[in-house]
Amino acid sequence: MKCHKCRGSLEKTKTNKVFEDNILVENISAYRCKGCGELLFDEVSYNKTLKAIKSVKRKIPQKVLSKIKMVMA
Ligand SMILES: [Zn+2]
Repeated sequence: MKCHKCRGSLEKTKTNKVFEDNILVENISAYRCKGCGELLFDEVSYNKTLKAIKSVKRKIPQKVLSKIKMVMA
């Protein structure tokens, strides 16, 4: 896998990302370009993250959906 911007090589990393404005997910597997610093998510861990968010949201009533912090395994 190469960076889509500069074709630089990518290194594995972990990152945090806010989804839907109020769901902070920590420790998501991702790749960072050694050239330009662009952050890319691999599809598998990204889908896993979205699934985890969905299941968390199902468990929590909409009205207390203020701020959620999740940590991926
Ligand atoms: Zn790059």
